[in-house]
Amino acid sequence: MTQPSFRHLLAPLDLGFLTLPNRVLMGSMHTGLEDRAEHYPRLAEYFAERARGGVGLIVTGGIAPNIAGWTKPFAGKLTNSREVARHRLITRAVHGEGGRICMQILHAGRYAYHPLAVAPSRLKAPISPFTPRGLTRFGVARQIAAFVRCARLAREAGYDGVEVMGSEGYFINEFIAARTNRRHDDWGGPYQNRIRLPVEIVRRTREAVGRDFIIIYRLSMLDLVEGGSSWDEIVLLARAIEAAGATIINTGIGWHEARIPTIATMVPRAAFSWVTRRLKGEVAIPLVTSNRINDPAVADAVLARGDADMVSMARPLLADADFVRKAAEGRADEINTCIACNQACLDHVFEQKTASCLVNPRASHESELRYEPAARPRRIAVVGAGPAGLACATIAAGRGHAVTLFEAAGEIGGQFNMARRVPGKEEFRETLRYFGRQVELNKVDLRLGQPVTAAQLAAGAFDEIVVATGVLPRKLAIDGIDRPNVLSYVDVLLHGRSVGERVALIGAGGIGFDVAEFLGHDSDAAVGPAVTEDFMRAWGVDMSLERRGGLTLEGGVVPRSRRQIYLLQRKATPPGRDLGKTTGWIHRMELKRRGVQMLSGVNYERIDPSGLHITTQAGPRLLEVDHVVVCAGQEPLAALARELEALGRQAHVIGGARLATELDAKRAIDEGARLAASF
Ligand code: FAD
Ligand code: NAP
Ligand code: SF4
Repeated sequence: MTQPSFRHLLAPLDLGFLTLPNRVLMGSMHTGLEDRAEHYPRLAEYFAERARGGVGLIVTGGIAPNIAGWTKPFAGKLTNSREVARHRLITRAVHGEGGRICMQILHAGRYAYHPLAVAPSRLKAPISPFTPRGLTRFGVARQIAAFVRCARLAREAGYDGVEVMGSEGYFINEFIAARTNRRHDDWGGPYQNRIRLPVEIVRRTREAVGRDFIIIYRLSMLDLVEGGSSWDEIVLLARAIEAAGATIINTGIGWHEARIPTIATMVPRAAFSWVTRRLKGEVAIPLVTSNRINDPAVADAVLARGDADMVSMARPLLADADFVRKAAEGRADEINTCIACNQACLDHVFEQKTASCLVNPRASHESELRYEPAARPRRIAVVGAGPAGLACATIAAGRGHAVTLFEAAGEIGGQFNMARRVPGKEEFRETLRYFGRQVELNKVDLRLGQPVTAAQLAAGAFDEIVVATGVLPRKLAIDGIDRPNVLSYVDVLLHGRSVGERVALIGAGGIGFDVAEFLGHDSDAAVGPAVTEDFMRAWGVDMSLERRGGLTLEGGVVPRSRRQIYLLQRKATPPGRDLGKTTGWIHRMELKRRGVQMLSGVNYERIDPSGLHITTQAGPRLLEVDHVVVCAGQEPLAALARELEALGRQAHVIGGARLATELDAKRAIDEGARLAASF
């Protein structure tokens, strides 16, 4: 099959003093490595790997221009020449690979998670416990000077430019929006005053760094909060930023406190490029569009239809450092696609852990997790082609081992074959496409439809045996659990068993939420990814851009489910509290809007033809339902390992087969990858 050429994506971009080799900008993504001096060698390796992969221009994670601008205590900053030295490690590593890199200057403003926070006005953000100090005029001048000093030091450190973070509700954005700027001096009041801060920062930065230095300005084109900018104001700001000396304008979508998903997996691909498109023609400098662009064909189409001059991809470059090179070499089908789960990147950042990637555990671990050619090729049997087994088999084979992969089912993927059927999780198919291609490329001997036994394995001439057989749904001991009106999530999601109009779900973990989402849609068949217009209507985004902040007057419109769905758990805490930090709120909102009833503190008494009998704090209750679906967690399926041991063979056990508690694909793939790297 001939692969597309992506000629728009791969076209060079002339910035006047510098030509970028293609239109891919690696967007700023905080990894956590920026925050500790001793992690800079690791950070340098991380960026070098992306530069080797051919990305046109890299932007670092946010670096604070002063202590007040820290996102959290002791976050990365660039304020003196001692700190310049560590940044040189990064710029040298990137330039050594022929890449280009800008440093993002991020002042957190009232989003700062520490008591030194400052802002235009003394207004606490809904997502931070700290109330910022309102700046005096002198204080404002000091913040501007800090930005300029930071840019000058960035140049000294060898960066090709800086990105001035003016969006997402951080410090600069807080000056621009009336919502957060209540000042009555030169820096507040009318819009011209409120944009004085970003314009001054860009103007004075340009003065300080000279003409041959990139200044990207990240401009909030859609605030998605009440009291945000109007479209006319945004155009005015863009023109002023251009006049002040910016080289490129990048698109910012949504403040962090906005309650509209902007990058999670249920957001359609390139869903916000129409916003950047509206600014085309209003300024002459290149525009970058962003958000949920994870595929070269999508990126190329965005550029072909003239929505922007460049595309920003942050997480997709975490998922695959070689994204651009593979696209350029006609190997787009080999790209490890970001599925926008946020589980190992953004969720980690919010949990104060180093960001990595669910589908690529090497991200941020480049120097320590290496897939080197095997010194002594071995014969390896991997049992189970779920995420753990697939990662192990393909990486081991890629290193030169002879790998046989046994899978009982007729297709690879394990539980991902259920996940991908959940509306909004269609991206999970891409991981299976990626692994499928890796199986071919690395010549893994794949045996589908083969539930292999211990005796067969022991009889085979394998040097190593890996058991990655996954899990079994937990069996519950509730009276009536074997009745025909009781199903498991596997029956519903994999075997397509039909479910009545009234249903109770036992268990409100990730899978309970996913089954509720699946059943809450009108069709039980997979519905396919959402269309941008439908998504915007569902979440109340005003595509006409007539209202401030880009929010419709009536808010989001979602059809209630025709089904009556109860989502139940025994714990007294609110259901869904343990879902992902950055996505849990979306799942909770989505189900509430569809009319799913969530009950906590439930005791399951019995199931009979009339439904599910429960007791809650309010007393006994009958949920009159047609079906009960059990989503109550899993147990490891590791009998094979024990049987092998009985035959005198030790096996490596990974993924759900090793431990089902708190199992997710992130752990499964990580365990598979690390074991494969160790052979
Ligand atoms: P599995 O995926 O269970 O794979 C085990 C494989 O082994 C299966 O294919 C099985 O057929 C095969 N097998 C078993 N016995 C044998 C044998 N004797 N011989 C040959 N083959 C055998 N995780 C996330 O991180 N994020 C999510 O958003 C997410 N969503 C999910 C949504 C749903 C609906 C479900 C069901 C799961 C979801 N998960 C999610 C969980 C994730 O899919 C699992 O954690 C992951 O699949 C575990 O990987 P594994 O390889 O250990 O096991
Ligand atoms: P889970 O998150 O552990 O949830 C299990 C649910 O079953 C809980 O609500 C639990 O709540 C209930 N439960 C446990 N034991 C029970 C029992 N004996 N009787 C009745 N109820 C019981 O597991 P899961 O939902 O099956 O998900 C499996 C894994 O897949 C999870 O670790 C998750 O990380 C991953 N996953 C992730 C996502 C995602 O979006 N990130 C989505 C799907 C799955 P009570 O004990 O309070 O009743
Ligand atoms: Fe993308 Fe998920 Fe990897 Fe983050 S963890 S980069 S969202 S695939």
